[in-house]
Amino acid sequence: MAKATITLRQTIDTRLEAQSYFAANQALFNKVAAFYFDVIQAHVGVLDLSNKEALTALEKLTHTTQRNPHPAMPLTDIGEDIPAMFRRAAINAALGSARSFSAHLDKWRKRKEKTEAKGKKCKERPPIPPRAWNKSATLYAGMWKERMDSSICIKVWTGTCWSWISVRLTGREMPDGFQFCSPQLVHRGDRWYLHTPIEQKITSPVKIEKQIKTNPDIKICAIDLNMDGALAVCTIRDAEGSVLATKFIGRGQRANGFRKLQLGRIARNRSQTGIIEQGVQDNADLWAKIRNYDENLSHLVSCRIVQFAQQYGASLLIFEYLGNLKPEKGKYSKRGNSKRAFWMKGRIFNYAKYKAYNAGILTSRVNPKDTSRTCAKCGSPVARYNEGEKPEGYQMGAKLSKCSVCARNDHSDRNASLQIGNKFFARYGIILQEKPPTLPSESERAEQSAGGAALQEPTFQAVGQLSITGRAREQQRAWHRPQNGKLKVG
Ligand SMILES: [Zn+2]
Repeated sequence: MAKATITLRQTIDTRLEAQSYFAANQALFNKVAAFYFDVIQAHVGVLDLSNKEALTALEKLTHTTQRNPHPAMPLTDIGEDIPAMFRRAAINAALGSARSFSAHLDKWRKRKEKTEAKGKKCKERPPIPPRAWNKSATLYAGMWKERMDSSICIKVWTGTCWSWISVRLTGREMPDGFQFCSPQLVHRGDRWYLHTPIEQKITSPVKIEKQIKTNPDIKICAIDLNMDGALAVCTIRDAEGSVLATKFIGRGQRANGFRKLQLGRIARNRSQTGIIEQGVQDNADLWAKIRNYDENLSHLVSCRIVQFAQQYGASLLIFEYLGNLKPEKGKYSKRGNSKRAFWMKGRIFNYAKYKAYNAGILTSRVNPKDTSRTCAKCGSPVARYNEGEKPEGYQMGAKLSKCSVCARNDHSDRNASLQIGNKFFARYGIILQEKPPTLPSESERAEQSAGGAALQEPTFQAVGQLSITGRAREQQRAWHRPQNGKLKVG
């Protein structure tokens, strides 16, 4: 049995003094977590243990009991009578951060060794431990009680004592068939929220290798993520490699336009005020606008990807690894924009992954090398160009692609998504019986029209600008392969 987890977000209705309690509680939580982070740094061996063993080891090092009257680094230095469950939640938060920090450090050391082995000097700076702690306090069982749909009783540090307070909750109610996990007290803006992960048991999806061996009717959905144009281009393929459907999701251009506008406003505001106060977020509303827009769009796009895969019964999502962001030169708004568009690709992947998992679909990633530079049919280099130009050279971000050898025409992003699918099939040794279809080349099209055969032109531009809400239109735009072997757009 596997678990599907989602987060229930509820707003806490509080009086003003309760807000100060929550703030004090969070400050203490972070103080304890920071303390344990330091303990772990002093006893790095703890990180080799499992979380459960590490918890015991850390408590031995810090917690005073009758059997252990003189721990090495007593927690009582931070505060007296901290409840055990509060302490454990903080320990686990510290462990998470310490594991992440240690992993980053290891990776950096390896990169450094590699560079120095080549005889070069490593210019990259080492990762640093967290300077400030701003974690939300997790409430383990024992720190909360009497949970109802619209109220909960929680134990918090008020700044002077530990106290049970009852709060009202508004927002979404618990969906059916789920179970509560430990909630978190989250501070956003000037409000407090209760975030509760909720779990539902689902049948575990079959492992990818097993699916490929045992299911001859397997269908995959390969996705190419982009920073502009269509944010995601998905193709559904069957086990023979035939393309069953294509979908272009999201308007990257519109997102870029929106973000660039806000970033430009921020830059202008900053240049007018001249000085930015330290430790205070400037232009908070504009930043929030950008953040919310990106978050919302990532959810919409990832949701659409999973819906599309479900619609065609695909049981695997195939993405490519993200690679590194190539910094763009230009104005502040341009650089900031491309950075955010790149981050959004990562977000869409993460969201799609968990949404797919909850729907019983697994996710896999392939090497991104040359997926957009080579032809999906024969693997030769392609020319990338825009409509109305000659198919020559390679123009980054251009919409159309044409193979230099087999003369296959396609939308560049669709070609890339087919290549991603091809790489996945190749990894599992599947020899495709049917290669992706060839769109008729321009000369063929000319012949066809001269011969009087009516052939619909693929309308790339129209497809590329699909709106997320235009559901009916999108569904009509699946690619069909008619009997005569020629491809047309329905
Ligand atoms: Zn080709």
